[in-house]
Amino acid sequence: MASSPAQLLANLHGLILDMDGVLWEGDRPLPGMPEFLSFLRAEEIRIILATNNASLTPESYVQKLARMGAEVRREEIITSATATAEYLKSIARPGEKIFIIGEEGLTRAIEEAGLPMAEPDDLHAAYVVCGMDRGLTWQKLANATIYLRGGARFIGTNPDLTFPTERGIAHGNGAVLAALTAASGVKPTIIGKPFPSLFQMALLKMGIPKARVASLGDRLETDILGARKVGIHSILVLTGISSRKELRHSKIKPTLVVEDLPSLQRAWLLSRGRRNG
Ligand SMILES: [Mg+2]
Repeated sequence: MASSPAQLLANLHGLILDMDGVLWEGDRPLPGMPEFLSFLRAEEIRIILATNNASLTPESYVQKLARMGAEVRREEIITSATATAEYLKSIARPGEKIFIIGEEGLTRAIEEAGLPMAEPDDLHAAYVVCGMDRGLTWQKLANATIYLRGGARFIGTNPDLTFPTERGIAHGNGAVLAALTAASGVKPTIIGKPFPSLFQMALLKMGIPKARVASLGDRLETDILGARKVGIHSILVLTGISSRKELRHSKIKPTLVVEDLPSLQRAWLLSRGRRNG
């Protein structure tokens, strides 16, 4: 472990960035976001943008970032959907069918991985994969339950119990996973943060030793806890979900806490013996 924030930052070669609450809030970029990403490029810090959100495709994130003035490549983005597809590709045997509850981000990722999908009237499926689906119906839940009770393996893209909407907090994918577990008795393997798969895929893509990589995120129980579980550093930014008050009462402690991206950038510059401007 680095003994000071400056030492930690001076030693980093890779950063796994969460997006919502770190790079933007809804459709509004957070202050200093494009500048921070340019700074990381100039410093030759490798980046992976990693999100638990399985509903969107990597391309749609590239476009969203471009609209906000930031240039990120498709291969620098991992969603819990693309990570789920990679995981399935590594374990599924030829011909095994996958039943999907999910949106375009998930169906596209599984399609692109070349994996066969179950049709709604199939009697069996080898896997049930569940991500956020705003078109979720009774029939989809019934199919998933029948397949799980018939021996299908259960995979969840992400464990988030809640999902923020403009009208308030709604149920997240984790709540749907819990409903399917209640009906089938089968517990899911979960890919997203804080479980290790998403982080491990990011580390593999970066090819940088763990000691030189940090996770940057706004949520203690996913971005920070997950980083600790895989043994990398963690930086909490206070522009999203977790507050200083929550941090004080939590057992989950990040390696470093910063107010926002500009203050992280300043600290990083100082760690390299330089000042802004
Ligand atoms: Mg976040």
